[in-house]
Amino acid sequence: MSDTAKTNLLNHDRRSMQDFFAGIGDQPFRATQVVKWIHQYGVDNFDDMTNLSKELRARLRDIAEIRLPEVELDQVATDGTRKWLLRLMDGNCIETVFIPEEDRGTLCVSSQVGCTLNCTFCATGHQGFNRSLTVDEIISQLLVANRSLGRDPKGERIITNVVFMGMGEPLLNFENVVPAMRLMLDDHAYGLSRRRVTLSTAGVVPMMDRLREACPVSLAVSLHAPNDLLRNELVPLNRKYPIRELLGACRRYCDISPRSRITFEYVMLAGINDGVEHAQELAELLMTVPSKVNLIPFNPFPQTRYRRSSNESIDRFREVLIKAGLTTITRKTRGDDIDAACGQLAGRIQDRTRRRVRIMSQIQS
Ligand code: SAH
Repeated sequence: MSDTAKTNLLNHDRRSMQDFFAGIGDQPFRATQVVKWIHQYGVDNFDDMTNLSKELRARLRDIAEIRLPEVELDQVATDGTRKWLLRLMDGNCIETVFIPEEDRGTLCVSSQVGCTLNCTFCATGHQGFNRSLTVDEIISQLLVANRSLGRDPKGERIITNVVFMGMGEPLLNFENVVPAMRLMLDDHAYGLSRRRVTLSTAGVVPMMDRLREACPVSLAVSLHAPNDLLRNELVPLNRKYPIRELLGACRRYCDISPRSRITFEYVMLAGINDGVEHAQELAELLMTVPSKVNLIPFNPFPQTRYRRSSNESIDRFREVLIKAGLTTITRKTRGDDIDAACGQLAGRIQDRTRRRVRIMSQIQS
């Protein structure tokens, strides 16, 4: 059989791995064994899977493979943030970022090559869009990062949390993001708890309801504005799903468990959305949803018309929210010396929307 026809086993969560083994006339427990080898032990060679019979190993070599993207670039920032540029089979490149903190290690993964949403303050949006990632391309980011980082002296994994806050809108790639998240949660694979996997969305309302049914992980919502007028401008998706509908979906999402809260992300743009009046409007808006707020100082990128809010404005904004009883933190800017900060991920993509060309010609004219 030629290489291209081989099944990449990274594409399967445990359920679909069982289907794969059923399809070749083997037992479902093989799925658990192979998932463990691949994801727990990081093995990518069938010969090393010693609890499989020699015949099965030979068979798998014939029809299947464990194919990871290539690490094109591996950079470490002065603050320890690390970024991998991964080259996919079709030549597109995506970025994955590791953010070490005192009490945890967070991996920020991408879900699409580029993004269709075109939020005005985001570098990924300016790059245009090529396609959604496959399950194997999503889970490979965790596999590659785990492999590079190794384990701590106690033998524990360095990556304790995953956030879908890299390139792309994860809820517009629901079919592939969900199996990848199931692998992250699977005790035979990565064993992360639901609290430690966070999906961030710009607010694809119907898919938020489906996520709650299919795989209720922690949810972050990129709000960025306290009213529709401003949000329509910053997050064009708001024209389709306005704030009232978005917050309705957030409330429904919190019904999963009495303790669940939505994290609202709010990028701080000088003179645009960072006034005390915006903070008051936001506080009022969020009264009806169990929430916490993450203020993100804007990270500039070439050709942006926005500036980062001053520390004083951010502090003032935060004070208003805290006084209103909202848990509010200001996100530390990490890894900006290697362009790994929020909104700076651009990968290297073959844009099919030609948005980049359009934007460049607008700038030049
Ligand atoms: N599409 C998803 C996930 C990717 S964005 C979403 O919109 O949530 C991850 C976070 O980074 C979002 O909150 C996004 O709004 C924020 N972000 C984007 N560009 C930024 C920038 N230039 N500076 C700071 N944060 C940014």
